Amino acid sequence: MIQHLTDRVSVVFTEDGFTSGNCILVEDDVRLMIDSGCGRELDSVRPEAVELLLCSHHHVDHIGGNDRFVNARILAHPLEAAAMQVAEKLIATDRWQELMDEENFFCVPEVNGAPNRLYLPWRVDGPLAEGQVVDCGATRIGVIHTSGHTAGHCSFHLLDDDIVFIADICLSKVGPWYGGRDSSIDAFIASIDRIIDMKPATIVTGHLGSVLTENIPGVLGEYRGRILNRESRILAYVRDHPSTINELAQRHFIYPAHPSLFVLYWEKSMLHNHLDRLIALGEVARYDDGRYGPARVLGA
Ligand SMILES: [Zn+2]
Repeated sequence: MIQHLTDRVSVVFTEDGFTSGNCILVEDDVRLMIDSGCGRELDSVRPEAVELLLCSHHHVDHIGGNDRFVNARILAHPLEAAAMQVAEKLIATDRWQELMDEENFFCVPEVNGAPNRLYLPWRVDGPLAEGQVVDCGATRIGVIHTSGHTAGHCSFHLLDDDIVFIADICLSKVGPWYGGRDSSIDAFIASIDRIIDMKPATIVTGHLGSVLTENIPGVLGEYRGRILNRESRILAYVRDHPSTINELAQRHFIYPAHPSLFVLYWEKSMLHNHLDRLIALGEVARYDDGRYGPARVLGA
């Protein structure tokens, strides 16, 4: 479904579920899209007639249609351009070997069709950087480097209409996600705070089914709070019950259910990143037997 926000700016809402994402279409002097992972809806935006494609980050639900943009100049943050060349990173499983017993992470065929797609030559023609302004004519787009979900994750501020596309600061029920090697919980929190401080009129995300115009600070604040709530629950538990990541995963601190191996993996990878943060804060230690528990105070 395409929703026109102004006479030049539209949201392309995906109708293909979690393996796809919403995109932005700008029809101005320059015909531009932000992200390409909207699935079946891509036909209706004529990707071959798009001149400039901006990529929020490397996950396949956001760049899965990039190969259809044959006449576009494709821009991505350099950290994301590098990550696009690694299949495990495209489907957000780059710690699989470390955390999972199951050998094959290509066990979920619905990842945008066939696994072979992950090995496309992912072309990137130029960089995106913090503060860059992309000029489409009457529409100017400011690039905001909102690191955290991934290291080079970018949001896009349509300056003249005060619309911000925040991609995988997704605001959906299952978020936030920060389970990659290049994810950062601290950076994710700072990026959410930065969007709150901008006080935008309209927010669009990669995975919410509608645009947001009401109570934007409240919604972002609640979303931010989920990160620290998860961490508080993890810390409270390991203080009393030193545990391995596998044992902690069974406590469902992140996801109430694990309907696929992917979700179990993401539970573990996000636990990993929380535990790393708690170790850095001096709250938790990793013991020799692989369990995580309270940091022992020297001399106590
Ligand atoms: Zn993502």
